[in-house]
Amino acid sequence: MRIAIDGPAGAGKSTIARMIAERLGLLYIDTGAMYRALTYMVLANNVDPNNEKQIAELIKKFDFEIRSDEIFLAGQNITRKIREPEVTANVSLVASHFAVRQALVDLQKQIAQQDNVVMDGRDIGTCVMPDADLKIFLKASVKERARRRALELARRGFSFKLEEIEEQIRERDTKDSNREISPLRKAEDAFEIDTTDLTIEEVVEQVLLLCARGKTNV
Ligand code: C5P
Repeated sequence: MRIAIDGPAGAGKSTIARMIAERLGLLYIDTGAMYRALTYMVLANNVDPNNEKQIAELIKKFDFEIRSDEIFLAGQNITRKIREPEVTANVSLVASHFAVRQALVDLQKQIAQQDNVVMDGRDIGTCVMPDADLKIFLKASVKERARRRALELARRGFSFKLEEIEEQIRERDTKDSNREISPLRKAEDAFEIDTTDLTIEEVVEQVLLLCARGKTNV
């Protein structure tokens, strides 16, 4: 069973994907965490996020691992670091480079082949697992997505301004949707769920229902 969950920042992908994986006993892969980990590596090595050539060199040493929800880079736990504002501000730029997409999509495809997975991201249904058993596209209003991000950041102990988060979300939406290679896009055969006015449990129920029906086409 392979499930692809795509959508913009803050639409609820990781929360929903994690819960679906737990209920169905599948492996959960947060592909955003991979792009964030690479961005952290770029910044930590003082590499310019615009410099695709140098980033391509760094990727050769990209030693990424997920161990029960914790993210490791070369053995170092960077779970909290990849959520820091500097990483969030640069991740869409790093993720837009051809060399980056080629390397990380390859890695994600390998993982998807080995296991029963729920994978979330921006291009999972269109690019990483075009043959997934179920494709979900989650969306929500920008205001609601900013409110959720704010709650998440507060829970993690970060300080922020709500207007800044809303602006960042708009900026990331624009960059992620307009990049040349594998932009954020709903796959033709994905089920779209607007989560703006739904509880987490209601979204999970809808996804589980779709899984039970075994449907793959709208
Ligand atoms: O999901 P999350 O918000 O953590 O993703 C961080 C960023 O990583 C996104 O804004 C996007 O630029 C990039 N990303 C991507 N393709 C994916 C997953 C994430 O380009 N499959």
